[in-house]
Amino acid sequence: MLHDRRNEKHDAKMPIYGSYAEDSAIVKTSLRRSPIDAQIAYRLISDELMDEGNARQNFATFCQTYMEPEAVQLMSETLEKNAIDKSEYPQTAKLENYCVNVLADLWSVQKDDDFIGTSTVGSSEACMLAGMAMKFRWRTMAKENGLDINAQKPNLIISSGFQVCWEKFGVYWDVDLIEVPVDSKHMSINTDILMDYVNEYTIGIVGILGITYTGKFDDIEKINHLVDDYNKKSKWHELVIHVDGASGAMFTPFVNPELPWDFRLKHVVSINTSGHKYGLVYPGIGWVLWKDKKYLPEELVFDVSYLGGHMPTMAINFSRSASQVIAQYYNFLRLGFDGYRGIHERTKKVALFLSKALEETGLFEIYNDGANLPIVCYTLKADTDKEWTLYDLTDRLQMKGWQVPTYPLPKDMEDVLIQRYVCRADLGFNVAEEFVADLNEAVEELDKARILAPKAETTDGKKETRGFTH
Ligand SMILES: *Cc1c(COP(=O)(O)O)cnc(C)c1O
Repeated sequence: MLHDRRNEKHDAKMPIYGSYAEDSAIVKTSLRRSPIDAQIAYRLISDELMDEGNARQNFATFCQTYMEPEAVQLMSETLEKNAIDKSEYPQTAKLENYCVNVLADLWSVQKDDDFIGTSTVGSSEACMLAGMAMKFRWRTMAKENGLDINAQKPNLIISSGFQVCWEKFGVYWDVDLIEVPVDSKHMSINTDILMDYVNEYTIGIVGILGITYTGKFDDIEKINHLVDDYNKKSKWHELVIHVDGASGAMFTPFVNPELPWDFRLKHVVSINTSGHKYGLVYPGIGWVLWKDKKYLPEELVFDVSYLGGHMPTMAINFSRSASQVIAQYYNFLRLGFDGYRGIHERTKKVALFLSKALEETGLFEIYNDGANLPIVCYTLKADTDKEWTLYDLTDRLQMKGWQVPTYPLPKDMEDVLIQRYVCRADLGFNVAEEFVADLNEAVEELDKARILAPKAETTDGKKETRGFTH
């Protein structure tokens, strides 16, 4: 439909909601013929996004939902910088390197370690890179030692509470993901049976510092002991550990620095984290570091020209905005160690406060009270004799704008439904108190309600569950 030019003129003075363009259809399948006014376009799109829910009331996401105005300003002023163009934006490249240095220090890199690292889009890209490094290194070792590398697929060992990026890694790079099942005694990797899964085709073990489902930590120190014993006895096969610290690696160094999970442990050779989780940056930033260059096979490193010289890069992606890297650097500069610690300690207190409030209802069994990561995770006690389920509670809380996910635990515990709150920096005590009031009210309402339960089976015969991938 072509525009009537008289109407366009008319639009210039007309308030947005009286304008011609405002009531025309938004673009859904093909471009409209003529442009519309920028303000109207802005309004149309922001209205379209209006019912999406308030990110700050979203208890499901680990991703940062608040940054200071100065950080936002810096980000919006640097959106056009391309993080991969190291020669065009050498100062930005420097800031990225400073961030890598800071992380190496936070993760206790040792004096003689020749570490290397990079920013990524998030932990997923970081995990792909770390996984590939393990695979390439294993393959070279295996070939040199006469193993028939085609006899069996290489494998990677991880707890069944892994985040979906590891499943992708297995599929994309043709590696068998071997899952150590979780059970109610071990809500993290079961180190009693872990080594039973290892064979000569194992490229490495992933320890998770902050299992996405529950917030629990794998016992990385114990894994390191087991790997040490194995490597001492092994002829050529040197097992390595990668730590998926998407959430924990930017939290634990500030709140629980004595816990050894990082490069202090001999066999931990690489670590990833999401800058957009407890690194406190808006989504689009992750990091991966190798303790020493020898753990990152050369084939994975590409040279880009940089100020007339060369600079190594490892990335799956090419172009992306540098503003997230700059925002990470902003947080490091602005907050310092004590700033991060102060924020994280308070977030943890809020998590403990919420789990106490849950406990006081007498209805819930707490799986994680927020003591290691500020993640509260619980189930409805079996003997509560309630007609309603956690899904109903989710729905009820949604009425007040809270997004609280309910989902089944991973394989072997999938009959247990849990609910999880990811507490973040911008969840203050006042808001948390409001939430508790709404929670108690929701429970009261549900107790009084007559619940129409969904059919036990869907039409295709599957048991009804609702899922969650992060
Ligand atoms: C969130 C998460 C990931 C994926 O991180 P992104 O930064 O979202 O790509 C991987 N592993 C764990 C343990 C996570 O919690």
